[in-house]
Amino acid sequence: MEILKVEHLVKQYGKGDNAVLAVNDISFSVEQGEFVAIVGSSGSGKSTLLHLLGGVDRPTSGKVYIQGEDIYSLNSDKIAIFRRRQVGIIYQFYNLMPILNVEENMAIPMELDGRKVEKAQMDDMLLRLGLTERRTHLPNELSGGQQQRTSIGRALITRPSIVLADEPTGNLDTKASNEIMHLLKTSNRELNQTIIMITHN
Ligand code: ADP
Repeated sequence: MEILKVEHLVKQYGKGDNAVLAVNDISFSVEQGEFVAIVGSSGSGKSTLLHLLGGVDRPTSGKVYIQGEDIYSLNSDKIAIFRRRQVGIIYQFYNLMPILNVEENMAIPMELDGRKVEKAQMDDMLLRLGLTERRTHLPNELSGGQQQRTSIGRALITRPSIVLADEPTGNLDTKASNEIMHLLKTSNRELNQTIIMITHN
């Protein structure tokens, strides 16, 4: 099943002499359960493309369909709701809330949507991510790898249609990077989670 379709996507920043064509007429599609890498040098437009796929920024022209929904035909409020339910995002620098503990951070997308995380679901996610012993710890009490694992939990908790990861191992040492890649591969295989990941190598 096709989960994401991109048609003639264009993003231009600025105007006139300052214009930058960051995404220039891109078209592709992704099937459910695929694990896709977006590879390219710095400044080639990877983050811009990822933000367009996730409804974070509007394209200059072109279409993005997620599960058949033309997301930029929606108004901003509806895009925000759609994104919260259907898109999980993992950032290089985790973007955790410093005053919330591990399980509270993981529950944010569900809480914002007025839903509760079942205890069994939270327990399962913590176990998968190796965070059971850290569930009540704050981000500043965690290693970089543990913080990134928490942000993966936050991205997966809603069972989104797609997970977008922007250089998820870019800030981690080799061992933690391998753990994060293993977790992403496992969630791709075991949960049939579609993942689109930016990497420069
Ligand atoms: P990458 O993720 O591959 O490093 P980006 O998508 O961040 O590339 O950037 C692509 C190009 O768009 C770069 O030339 C960058 O300078 C430019 N760019 C990115 N964001 C903005 C912005 N908000 N305003 C103007 N130019 C931008």
